[in-house]
Amino acid sequence: MLDMQRRKAMQKLALLGGGMALFPTLDAQAKMLEKDVPKWDEEYDAIVVGSGYAGTAAMLSMMDRGLKNVLMIDKMQYMGGNSSISGGSYAMSRTSIQKENGVMDDPEMHIKDTLKSGHNLNNPEMVRIMAYEGLDAFNWLVENGVKWKLFSRSGGHSAPRNHSVGVGSYITRPLQEQIIKRGGQQRTRIIMDELVYNDKGIVMGMKVREKYEFKFDRTFDENDNKTGKVKYYRANAGVIIATGGWAADPKVRQIFNPALTPDMPTTNHYGATGYTIEKLIKDDIDLIDMQYIQIMHVTSADEDSFGFGFRTITGGYSYGMMINPKTGRRFINEIADRRICSDAIFAMNEKGKNHPLLIMDVNGAKTVEIDALQRGIEAGAVYQFETLDEMITKFNVNKEAFLDELKKYNAYVKTGKDPEFGRTFFKYKDEYITIEKPPFFVTRPGPKIHHCMGGVRTTVDCEVFNKTGKIVEGLYACGEVTGGRHGYNRLGSNSVVDCIVFGRRAGFAIAERYQKMVRS
Ligand SMILES: Cc1cc2nc3c(=O)[nH]c(=O)nc-3n(C[C@H](O)[C@H](O)[C@H](O)COP(=O)(O)OP(=O)(O)OC[C@H]3O[C@@H](n4cnc5c(N)ncnc54)[C@H](O)[C@@H]3O)c2cc1C
Repeated sequence: MLDMQRRKAMQKLALLGGGMALFPTLDAQAKMLEKDVPKWDEEYDAIVVGSGYAGTAAMLSMMDRGLKNVLMIDKMQYMGGNSSISGGSYAMSRTSIQKENGVMDDPEMHIKDTLKSGHNLNNPEMVRIMAYEGLDAFNWLVENGVKWKLFSRSGGHSAPRNHSVGVGSYITRPLQEQIIKRGGQQRTRIIMDELVYNDKGIVMGMKVREKYEFKFDRTFDENDNKTGKVKYYRANAGVIIATGGWAADPKVRQIFNPALTPDMPTTNHYGATGYTIEKLIKDDIDLIDMQYIQIMHVTSADEDSFGFGFRTITGGYSYGMMINPKTGRRFINEIADRRICSDAIFAMNEKGKNHPLLIMDVNGAKTVEIDALQRGIEAGAVYQFETLDEMITKFNVNKEAFLDELKKYNAYVKTGKDPEFGRTFFKYKDEYITIEKPPFFVTRPGPKIHHCMGGVRTTVDCEVFNKTGKIVEGLYACGEVTGGRHGYNRLGSNSVVDCIVFGRRAGFAIAERYQKMVRS
C-alpha cells in the first residue's frame, strides 16, 4: 500500500520534471569483521556517532532508560555539527506558546503541510510520529534546560508553529551539559571509519581514529585524510549513527543529484561531508530518496554560508514583497515553500548576475528581532534606505514598473487578496503590513544547498535496513543521515523535530536491546 502510494507520487513528480534521477550504485565492499580486530581498546554499552540534535537526543534518552557506560564521538574539534549553527527552530503544534498566542493548530494540519511539501513521498507513519510525539519531545527539551525565545510562521506551514531558541547550540549545549552531569562521555576528534560486524552480521563495535585532524577545505576529499591513531571500540548493545547530511560534499551530493554543481554555495558546516554515508553504502546499507537535496532560499547572495541576513530575509518573505529588479515586478508568492521559491529565484537570477530584491518598510522590519536586523546590516546582507528612490538607483530597478507593482501590492495587502500569486497576508500585532513608511530594508536572497532529505532507510524505531531488506542487528540511525520523513522537500523547522523525536526513539531502542541482552 505504502509502496503503491509512493510510486504514484513519484510518477506525478516525473510529470513535473522533478528529481527522478536514479542514483548510481556505489559498490558494496567487504565489511570489517570482529575476527580481524587485533584487540578491543575500549568497551561501552552503546556508542553514538555524531553530536548534533539527533546524537545528543539519542545519548540522553538511552541514559534516561538506564544506560550508563555510554560514549558519543564527533570527528570535529567542536561538538554539534550543523545543529549547533542552525536556526534552532522547531515546528510544533499545541505547545503552550502557541496557546498563549491564540494560534489554532493541530498535528493533523502539521502532517498535511509536511506531506504536501514532500509531494507525498514522505513515509506517512514517520510524519505522524513526528507531528504527534514532537510535543512530548518539545517538553522534554524544556525539562532539560532549553528555552524557546522566538515564535513565528515559516514558508509552507499553514499556521505559526516555529519555536526558535535563536541558534541551535542553545539546544545542543543544554543536552550536552546533561550528558556530562549524568556521567556520559563525549569526545571530539574521533572519527568512525568502519563498523565492525560478527560472523552473523551483527554490529559489535567500530574502528575509529583518535586525534583526527579535520581539514577545513570544502574541495578536499575526506577519504584522503589519513590523520589520527587507529583504535577499536566495542559497543555491546550497538551503535547509533547520527552523522548528519552531506550537503557540503561537492562530490557526493553531485553523485546523487547531478544538477548540484561543485561551485554552488552551501549553508552547511565544513564537516557535512559524504565520508560516513559512503562507508555505509560500502556496508550494503539501504538508502532512500538520496536524490532529494534541498536548496534554501532564506540565505543572502551578499554573504557566505548561512550568514547573518537570514532572519531579515525570513521576515521579508512574510511581511514584504520580492521583485526582479530588471522587470520591477514580483515573480512568485513570497510565502511559498523553500523549494518553490528557490526554483523561482534560479529561474530569474541569471546565474547570480541579477539577484531579486526583497523589500520591507519600517513596520515590516519590526517583525525582525532588532539585533538580528543590526547584525544583517553590519554583515552587508541588509540594506537600509531612507527613500525608495535610493534603492531604485542603487540596484538599477525598473522604476516605472516597480512603482506600479508596489501600488498593486499595497492594495492586495489592504484587501487581503492577491489575485496574481494567491498569497496569504499575515497580520503583525493586529495590523496588515504594507510597504509605505521609511526607512526601507532590502535584502538579496541567494539560495544555497542546505539539506539532505534522503539517507539511510530505517524502521520507525531507527533500526537500519540493509539492501536485502533485513534489519542489521545492533545498528540504529537517526537525524539527517536518515531518509523518509521529508520526501521531496523538507519544510522549515521540521528537521529539529525529526532529529529530536527519532533521536529519542533510537536511544530508547538501543536501551531496550541492552536490557534484553542483560536479561538473557
Ligand atoms: C545553517 C543551518 C540552519 C538550519 N536551521 C534549521 C532550523 O532552524 N530548523 C530546522 O528544523 N532545521 C534547520 N536546519 C537543518 C538542521 O539543523 C539539520 O538537519 C540538523 O542539524 C541535523 O542534525 P543531525 O544531528 O542529524 O546532524 P549534525 O548536527 O550535522 O551532526 C552530525 C555530526 O556527526 C559528525 N560526524 C559525521 N561523520 C562522522 C564520523 N564518521 N565520525 C565521527 N563523527 C562524525 C559531524 O562532524 C557532525 O558534528 C539548518 C541547517 C543549517 C545548516
